Amino acid sequence: MPVLDDALDSVEAFVTWVKLRHPGEIEFHQAVRSVVGNVIDIARDVPEFRKTAVLQRLAEPDRSIRFRVTWVDDEGEIHINRGYRVQHSNALGPYKGGLRFDPTVNPSILNFLSFEQVFKNSLTGLNLGGGKGGADFTTKGRSDNEVMRFCYAFMTELHRHIGPRTDVPAGDIGVGSREIGYLWGQYKRLENQFSGAITGKAVGAGGSELREEATGYGAVYFLGEMLADAGDELDGKRVTVSGAGNVAIHAAEKAAELGAIVVTLSNRKGCLIKEDGFSVQDVRAVEGAYTRCHDLGEAGEPVGARFVEGGKPWTVACDIAIPSATQNEIDIEDARALVDNGCKIVVEGANMPVTHDAAELLWESGVTIAPGKAANAGGVAVSGFEMLQNQSGDIWTAEHADDALRKIMKGIFQRSKAEGDSGGRIDLCRGADRAGFRRVARATAWMGAM
Ligand code: NDP
Repeated sequence: MPVLDDALDSVEAFVTWVKLRHPGEIEFHQAVRSVVGNVIDIARDVPEFRKTAVLQRLAEPDRSIRFRVTWVDDEGEIHINRGYRVQHSNALGPYKGGLRFDPTVNPSILNFLSFEQVFKNSLTGLNLGGGKGGADFTTKGRSDNEVMRFCYAFMTELHRHIGPRTDVPAGDIGVGSREIGYLWGQYKRLENQFSGAITGKAVGAGGSELREEATGYGAVYFLGEMLADAGDELDGKRVTVSGAGNVAIHAAEKAAELGAIVVTLSNRKGCLIKEDGFSVQDVRAVEGAYTRCHDLGEAGEPVGARFVEGGKPWTVACDIAIPSATQNEIDIEDARALVDNGCKIVVEGANMPVTHDAAELLWESGVTIAPGKAANAGGVAVSGFEMLQNQSGDIWTAEHADDALRKIMKGIFQRSKAEGDSGGRIDLCRGADRAGFRRVARATAWMGAM
């Protein structure tokens, strides 16, 4: 057997093979271990998958682009950042995935995110490949003009690598509507065409209704499917949410709208708690105030919430937790706290918010995890709707987009459940990986060994 085939001997052998190619990329190794653990038997047992080394190829991005971003601050000082775009797989459609602006951005984080994105996008059933990008830059403490200059400089290089049929980026941590506007403006200026090469555009300027809300809303729709499948409902459930950004705010808002008692939000500095629950209006008020003052404690005061400096949501009693901030935000101690505090379901609004050990502990304690690649796929799904609208010239109403989003989340749940059997219990993480892998693997194998 060729050496490449040896990687399929075991999960450990596969991860060792990836470690040799990507030394020190801890987050990427973690993501590979998790997915490969769930799909290695398929990669080994389906002859055409094995013959064409599909799993090994999907563990190596098609292309990684790294570039310098030079920009000038308001005082005239020059700054140099690193920009990246990882184009992981376009077997199912144009590369698609967000841009993250955060000091923690590095090749490991982007390889993990782009790898996960491939399976997530496959799971939606839409024709979308997987990619991810960003820069080790933060908008925090920067003026609007500085952010604009940074975005223009970033896109001045990125534009030559993307396009509506090639690679279609969107937002992620640190890249919201303002940044997308600057990035899109510069793309349009350089290419001189309105071609839909970025999603998350403003409604009325080529964007889709519901794109901003889609990831958070979609996570709650996925949760609704899980509960309905178990003969239960969201009304009256205590829910903890982490984060106070795009995903967290919209997950909290939709959960509150559907009758849940949403008791927390959080940020890098601590946790905001409202024991009797944030109403939809409370969530919107906190979002508005936080955007203005950048102080979550201050933003929570008018709605009667208290801020715990350095606190995390996981010590607050709940039925359901929706981690929506960042990767690895629930470690084994946090998982223990969740179990002790009565949590029964964890819905990953963020990408890989639960560490490997914490996920094992939660599973053994009877907690069901809705994995990010299934539960937070609503964002990329509505990005897919935006691409369709840009191509056809149609403009969807919010109701149409919401209806289509619900259908997509239902389909993702059903596909994840159908493949999720694990000793008589449904493991949605396993099911999502298997269903996502099977579709992209078929397309990859079909094209031969390229
Ligand atoms: P935002 O930048 O809008 O918000 C991120 C929030 O998480 C902020 O409140 C931030 O705190 C908090 N946060 C970030 N890092 C940490 C940390 N290390 N510790 C504690 N809190 C932290 O990002 P999004 O809401 O867009 O993304 C959140 C997650 O969801 C990410 O994992 C992203 O990849 C994932 N995701 C996003 C999608 C989207 O459509 N936006 C789609 C699918 C997944 P602070 O306010 O202090 O900065």
